[in-house]
Amino acid sequence: MSQGHLKNELRKKIIQQRQSISEKDWHEKSTKICQNLQQYPLFKEAKTILAYFPIRQEPDITTLFLTEHNWGFSRCVRKSLIWHSWQPNDPLITGKYGILEPSPNAPILTPETVDLILIPAVACDYKGYRLGYGGGFYDRLLNSPQWCSIPTIGIIFEFALFSQLPCDPWDQKLKAICTEDKILSIYT
Ligand code: ADP
Ligand code: MG
Repeated sequence: MSQGHLKNELRKKIIQQRQSISEKDWHEKSTKICQNLQQYPLFKEAKTILAYFPIRQEPDITTLFLTEHNWGFSRCVRKSLIWHSWQPNDPLITGKYGILEPSPNAPILTPETVDLILIPAVACDYKGYRLGYGGGFYDRLLNSPQWCSIPTIGIIFEFALFSQLPCDPWDQKLKAICTEDKILSIYT
């Protein structure tokens, strides 16, 4: 049986909790997340990194986009994520779900050129499972042979790290999880 109902209840609760964080706390915790990432070898060594523009008080990692890596961001196109390279000052468009997206004319990034993916989440667990918003976008991406071997780091605040989340057969695991307190490498 699908865990859909359980997942929905959890999503609502955790998103509410995240949106009740004060702006000051949100900034402080986000800054710590950025510092943790910048000390993590996988991050330091990555040339091209895919990331996200935060919505609904997701951890704000936008200051990292000014650092010396090539950055890529997605556009939601029907059920898929299409990745484009993006540099500060390049235009952004508000896309599906109110998420900022690169222009469709920006150069496309293919999986061979990508070293790391920073993935937003509603919650994660110690096994590496991720609860998203319910669209399954990252599950579909990481289920494809071209993308599945690229390292992934889930980005959440510590309160959203659970011992075990409900999961379905299609849920893909992350390689690491970064919070304001730690980076957890998942060994499988
Ligand atoms: P999220 O990962 O965003 O929390 P879910 O895990 O609940 O969301 O998945 C949402 C939907 O995505 C599910 O209904 C599922 O059928 C669909 N989905 C996930 N992975 C795949 C896949 N590899 N192929 C087709 N559909 C998928
Ligand atoms: Mg899922």
